[in-house]
Amino acid sequence: MRTVYVNGEFIPEDEAKISIFDRGFLFADGVYEVTSVLEGKLVDFQGHCGRLRRSLGELNMALGATDDELLDIHRQLVAQNNLEEGLIYLQVTRGAADRDFVFPPDDTPATLVLFTQVKGLIDSALANRGQKIFTVEDQRWSRCDIKTVQLLFPSLAKMEARSRGGDDAWLVRDGLVTEGSSNNAYIVLEDGTIVTRDLSNFILHGITRRAVLECARNLQMKVVERPFTVEEAMGAVEAFSTSASGFVCPVIEIDGTRIGTGEPGPTAQKLREVYIAEMRKAAI
Ligand code: PMP
Repeated sequence: MRTVYVNGEFIPEDEAKISIFDRGFLFADGVYEVTSVLEGKLVDFQGHCGRLRRSLGELNMALGATDDELLDIHRQLVAQNNLEEGLIYLQVTRGAADRDFVFPPDDTPATLVLFTQVKGLIDSALANRGQKIFTVEDQRWSRCDIKTVQLLFPSLAKMEARSRGGDDAWLVRDGLVTEGSSNNAYIVLEDGTIVTRDLSNFILHGITRRAVLECARNLQMKVVERPFTVEEAMGAVEAFSTSASGFVCPVIEIDGTRIGTGEPGPTAQKLREVYIAEMRKAAI
């Protein structure tokens, strides 16, 4: 059984309790982060902390804990669960209060929950095989840059892709790909240029995206941040996605059209390898 963290306590998962009045439960009034763990160490913890602070700020949500305290909680969870490889999920909500659209008083304590998930990240069958993607209309709200727990639409989109025999969905707004259901989306053009949607309120500013683009630039690969259509993606020589849990994951098919050779491409494979090596070195 896992040891989880709830509001100051490390407890067995079956003893963890959250109020039914919690605004995360009633209003999806909460934000989250997922940090990967390699060899018992946290990958890009500072990046995840920075984005968490931004999400909290955009929603005027207060969290008492400092970054150092959050780091300590993460490390204690890794130790208490002997986590070698996997994920740490963190969620902050605006706390519990009688149900009302109006926010509760500022002194209402936030809810802070963290738990671990064991997951093989490096040896990934999906990364070896390559993903089959189906495109789905992006029906999310217009503040996808805030990492909120309102994940119903991405979940529906992924289920739609699964029901069609795919692995994941890429979301399309006004004819242009925004991102994957839980990852950022990329294509590689004939001349080797990597294209990914530019940062805006329509996509999550991926922590893995930032690190992978830095790896690409260090490898002298050309990167262009701009929107692309599904049609352009179908004509690309390669495609891939990035996320904290999937690292760099090749895409081999979009809406039934084979991408490039139909096998994981060299750009995605190289970036996966270099990203993992860099993160192993820098993990804390
Ligand atoms: N976009 C969306 C919509 C996501 O949910 C995620 C992962 N939570 C990402 C992109 C990738 O972000 P990161 O690299 O920080 O995991």
